[in-house]
Amino acid sequence: MSETKKETALDAMAGDGGYQEEKYLGNYLRFKMRREGKRFWAGDNISDYITEQDKDRLIDEATEAFELVLDRLLIDRETDPNSHGTARRLAKMYFNEIMAGRYEPAPDATAFPNDSQDRYEGMLVVRSELRSMCSHHHQPVSGVAYIGIIAAEKLIGLSKYTRIAQWCARRGTLQEELCNDIAREIGKATGARDLGVYIQATHGCCENRGIMAHSSLTQTTVLKGAFRDDPGTKKEFMDNIKLQQEFAPR
Ligand SMILES: [Zn+2]
Repeated sequence: MSETKKETALDAMAGDGGYQEEKYLGNYLRFKMRREGKRFWAGDNISDYITEQDKDRLIDEATEAFELVLDRLLIDRETDPNSHGTARRLAKMYFNEIMAGRYEPAPDATAFPNDSQDRYEGMLVVRSELRSMCSHHHQPVSGVAYIGIIAAEKLIGLSKYTRIAQWCARRGTLQEELCNDIAREIGKATGARDLGVYIQATHGCCENRGIMAHSSLTQTTVLKGAFRDDPGTKKEFMDNIKLQQEFAPR
């Protein structure tokens, strides 16, 4: 194709009426968040800005964008039956599954008082399965978080630890960041100041590409309060993790 023909093709696209930024709700929401100083990185929750109704429209807009990506990758989504609904599947998967923790509000974790005479004062360690995604390559991160707390004045239901951890994980994250996020949110929900989060996970971005590692096991630990300052508490947490791993291998 000659240079003049290329220009003509581009001109035709531009004159096609085509790409009107204004019609996209996604553009409006990005504008609004920027104006209000709201950060919207891959690991941030932006549920305050999005209603369920908005989500349907955002999925439609993302479908359109994924269609363009597939076209640019020269994949025939019209005649290839496997690629036919792929753009929509991708859009729904991002909003409703692998990045759901960005768009959904925090899980309801009703706290019960822990202030009776026989209040529980020991350490509590919960093992939570995690599925996340690295924000650099959008490759799967899969592993387990061990969440330990020394109960303060409140207790939450055991399943809530995992719900909170998964809500933090269902975003684009880095494992270090995820570990911090879970510690912060568990602290908020339980009021506990003494807590630890240990994550062990494999990373698709090290296994499927790049260094093609056979296994990419990565460990991160965040310790707060007595978990950080008292060697006995830290050891008890680590011993509990080892015990859990013996009974429930990764
Ligand atoms: Zn990555």
